[in-house]
Amino acid sequence: MLIATKVCKAYNQVPVIQNVDFQVYPGTLVAIVGPSGAGKTTLLNLLSTLERPDSGTVQLDGIDLKELKGAALAEFRNKKIGFVFQFHHLLPEFTLFENVCMPGYIGTMPKQEVEQKAHALIQLLGINHCQHALPAHSSGGERQRAAIARALLLTPSVVFADEPSGSLDTKHAALLHMLFKELCTSLQQTFVCVTHNPALTAIADQVFVLEDGLLRPA
Ligand code: ADP
Repeated sequence: MLIATKVCKAYNQVPVIQNVDFQVYPGTLVAIVGPSGAGKTTLLNLLSTLERPDSGTVQLDGIDLKELKGAALAEFRNKKIGFVFQFHHLLPEFTLFENVCMPGYIGTMPKQEVEQKAHALIQLLGINHCQHALPAHSSGGERQRAAIARALLLTPSVVFADEPSGSLDTKHAALLHMLFKELCTSLQQTFVCVTHNPALTAIADQVFVLEDGLLRPA
């Protein structure tokens, strides 16, 4: 379970996130909406260990994230958290397939198992035709789907996604949303998505609005 309590963050003394309380049960698809500059990316970063709150706490599966440092933090991220960034951040010198495998190569899963899982996700996300291409030779949508496959590789408890269907056409966006829903149900994974896509908010179990750093149910 993901629990944020009274989380605050300011940049240059300007409050960006103010007293955010947030609880998400396993197997839930959450959408966070709000205008540009409202603090959505900052909130995702705070919930997902990428940034630390100035005050307040974030707990995932009973662990207080501020207690984690160095190697323990890296291991926790690798095991528990999947990231889908807005700009994908694929490694440019590796193929899409190698990028998808990367969290597994870094972790302790046997190589054969990593590659089997990667193949299955690549199939599910419909990027088998371009899996051996470099990111620079793939479309924005293909890169996005590779980033999603990479985030799902180690079956994290929570996937944090910034505009996960932002570069996808309607058909691939619909397939992705269905996959998220299915993984919520079948594997009790949680998805916390910042999105402007009404099709994603429509199927979310919980929708929150972030405005001026304040989070409220939609
Ligand atoms: P959103 O994702 O809703 O567009 P962001 O979380 O990216 O909003 O940004 C919220 C506010 O915080 C913006 O005013 C932005 O300029 C500011 N901000 C975000 N990150 C930083 C940073 N690292 N340093 C200073 N200001 C930042």
